[in-house]
Amino acid sequence: MQRNSDPEQLYEPSTGPTGLEEADHRLLMRLIFACTGATLGVFGILQSLAGNYWLAVAEAVACGMLLWAAHRLKRVRRLVPWIIAYLLPTFCFILYIIVMPNASATAFVWVYLMPVMAYLLLGKLRGFLLAVPFMLLATLMYLYMNHLRLDAPGLIDIGNGIFCGVLVLAFMHVYEGRRADAYRQLRRLALTDTLTGVASRESFQRALQRCIQESARYDARLVLVVLDVDHFKLINDQWGHDAGDKALQHLCKSLRHRLRATDLIGRLGGEEFGILLPYTDRYDAQPLVESLRKEVSRLPLEYSGQRIPLSATFGLAEWPSDGLDADELYRCTDRRLYRGKAEGRDRLVCSDPV
Ligand code: GH3
Ligand code: MG
Ligand code: MG
Repeated sequence: MQRNSDPEQLYEPSTGPTGLEEADHRLLMRLIFACTGATLGVFGILQSLAGNYWLAVAEAVACGMLLWAAHRLKRVRRLVPWIIAYLLPTFCFILYIIVMPNASATAFVWVYLMPVMAYLLLGKLRGFLLAVPFMLLATLMYLYMNHLRLDAPGLIDIGNGIFCGVLVLAFMHVYEGRRADAYRQLRRLALTDTLTGVASRESFQRALQRCIQESARYDARLVLVVLDVDHFKLINDQWGHDAGDKALQHLCKSLRHRLRATDLIGRLGGEEFGILLPYTDRYDAQPLVESLRKEVSRLPLEYSGQRIPLSATFGLAEWPSDGLDADELYRCTDRRLYRGKAEGRDRLVCSDPV
């Protein structure tokens, strides 16, 4: 089930199913397409000078298609079909140059590029599934073309080729697995607040910007709520910093428990939190936020056998009626929050006095 307050799932664009992060990946693909296109262009000229006109024409056509694809890749939405459409013919071409008439024995070195390209471009699982069958096929074709010799020099030749291929494959497998894990971990650290597990300030701000754009596109409303824990300094002073930390964790747990899967909580700083309610207007938001406020004051923190009462003050603003951009919405929620503090705390303020 989708959990609320998980910025990674809700509001951050996905990293996609491929190995590298989306923007780097697109750039890398464009570079590969352009370089392969240019290389094929040069080989096309050399083949025509050598009198291999059919091959020269085929390489010139492939060169043109690859340069066109490098340009198109700037904007396409799904990269995986493009990557597969590139890798399959490339790998088939490598197989062909191993078995073509008068093939050079060194053509086999291109096989070592297969795992590198497949893992970098498709990630660990897809990379493995694509690279391994092609590498096995290439090895069998090479052995067939170069007549297996079972004497010591022949076995050394074969051993060099096979062990080098296995090592490159193993290296890519381990490297890509570690790289993807490290990337996921870094991403999670950047997106979440380590103490409470809710969205970090930066990811909350980005989510708000995106939600405003989406609401404008679909003519919907959204609500931003900012809440600040009441007399939090007293909790720290009276019970210690650790109790204060536990209070923040406890508060976030109660809020997350009651919010819907599409809502997002973020820590804006200290003991101040933001709640984003997309596709919601002030009339629907008001009872929901009121129930959150009651929940916070209903559930004291149990700390070292003591019950520490908690409460918070909430300021609410609706897009677009209370502000057209994030700054205006924050100004509005802050104004209402501070009025709530001035009027006695532990309350929700949804409008300005007339
Ligand atoms: P008010 O009702 O007016 O908001 O009063 P307050 O005491 O909550 O407000 P104030 O801004 O004076 O105090 C906020 C305190 O929050 C001060 C700071 O030491 C504490 N604080 C900020 N971040 C953390 C944190 O991560 N952990 C703990 N334990 N305390 C924090
Ligand atoms: Mg406070
Ligand atoms: Mg504060």
